[in-house]
Amino acid sequence: MGFSRPHVILFPFLAQGHMIPLLDIAKVLAGCGLRVSYVTTHGNACHVRTSINEGRALSLDIHLVELEMPWVERLPQGCENMDSIPSLEIFILFLMTLKKLQEPFEKMLYQLIDEQQPACCLIADLFFGWCNETAEKFQIPRLVFHGISSFALSVEYSLWSHLPHKSLKSEQETFLVPEMPTPLVLSKANLSKEADESHPLFLFFDDLLKRDKESWGIVANTFYELEPVYVDHLRKYVGKPVWTIGPLSLSKGIESIDRGKSSDIKADKCLQYLDSQRPRSVLYISFGSQPCISDKQISEIALALQAIEQPFIWIIKLPSDATKTNPQHKVSPLFPSGFEEITKKKGLIIMGWAPQLLILSHPSIGGFLTHCGWNSTIESISSGVPMIAWPFFAEQNLNVKMVVDVLRIGLPIPLCDHEGLVRWEGIKNAALELMHGEEGQAARGRVLELAEAAKKAVGIGGSSHKSLVSLVEQIHKWHTSMEQYMENDTQH
Ligand code: UDP
Repeated sequence: MGFSRPHVILFPFLAQGHMIPLLDIAKVLAGCGLRVSYVTTHGNACHVRTSINEGRALSLDIHLVELEMPWVERLPQGCENMDSIPSLEIFILFLMTLKKLQEPFEKMLYQLIDEQQPACCLIADLFFGWCNETAEKFQIPRLVFHGISSFALSVEYSLWSHLPHKSLKSEQETFLVPEMPTPLVLSKANLSKEADESHPLFLFFDDLLKRDKESWGIVANTFYELEPVYVDHLRKYVGKPVWTIGPLSLSKGIESIDRGKSSDIKADKCLQYLDSQRPRSVLYISFGSQPCISDKQISEIALALQAIEQPFIWIIKLPSDATKTNPQHKVSPLFPSGFEEITKKKGLIIMGWAPQLLILSHPSIGGFLTHCGWNSTIESISSGVPMIAWPFFAEQNLNVKMVVDVLRIGLPIPLCDHEGLVRWEGIKNAALELMHGEEGQAARGRVLELAEAAKKAVGIGGSSHKSLVSLVEQIHKWHTSMEQYMENDTQH
């Protein structure tokens, strides 16, 4: 018996920041001649279906497999993606619910065997630690997809193993992160809340990070030249292959519109605005796929934009509940008087989902005010755009450290005041420095060099290309040994 192609299963966590890079990986692997099944729940399938169908129309052997989202008591109906999680309590429930996906997931793997399309490899998100057991049951290797940098992952391994921050008295007290390849000083304020032993999700992440070591290896959306010391360190630390195949956004066949969700602005309209601006004059403002800023913070940003009079594109996401429970919820009352006039003259506000790659890669973009989610960070680097780094949660603080202190390709946003707000004066000063100041200029020079390095890395013979080739070769080996095993099995 012989199966047509090696068949890889990709299983992203249910959040755009994970679904998008794994969708890119799906296309890249299918482009290398592999069969790829991308697994998600019914409620998330709508975000990737068009893109997968486009890939199929180009003869890519790529398939969307939909699972029923399990349900647990108190989890709101329709809660299938991180963008609809209103509180920590619901986040915990959501994570617990995802454990129940194991049963339908394994049923799907059995079905693939019945259909003579068995999987030879599973690339599953960090969040699905149970995939190690599943992979063992099906005797296939499990690779972990981490949607973060090698720098941040190295720090997280160290924090969770040594808890160097355990006895710190205040948020600002500093400590040396153990076992890092270069000395790194952090404070508790640089860490995600989950890194605290008293956090209800501490043990959940502790377990996940330990399971990494039981997996076959790691697939990462980064490139060697960006963080060589940390990639080397990570490889040594986990003692497993780490395939660095990024920046995925630069791979061939990756769409720049409707990526991860359908865009709330037509590409033409967006391009019309961008084309009418001077090179590197537009400040792009976006905080990722999840709504994370309050109404008051929106007002402060608007005040800052009014004060600097810089052209801007600003993506505003309201919590999905805000518009559902209060259809009158509008952002315009949050703006200072006269702001809408300024927007008409100088800016573009996009409510909802924006074509981020299209925007970032346009020559008019001169700076990115970002929450430093890893995808946004590496997309900005690939486009040669310096950043103002404004972290909100998860490992974003570590990405800020990398952007501001390690790579020096961005400026930090000032700290929040006692109300938890970054005031407009601070935003204004950071924006002016980034767009017109010396520090901004220096950051731009460095990020442009990295953008060149990123292009080389994904080009033929570049480090990410080589890493991809080695991953695909490895998958072929697994496929061959699976075929041999099944052949022997049928003969006995
Ligand atoms: N994104 C987009 N349009 C939007 C918001 C986000 O295309 O309006 C994409 C962005 O390009 C990135 C991903 O969504 O690929 C967000 O991932 P990131 O890690 O930056 O942030 P997260 O949403 O995970 O916090």
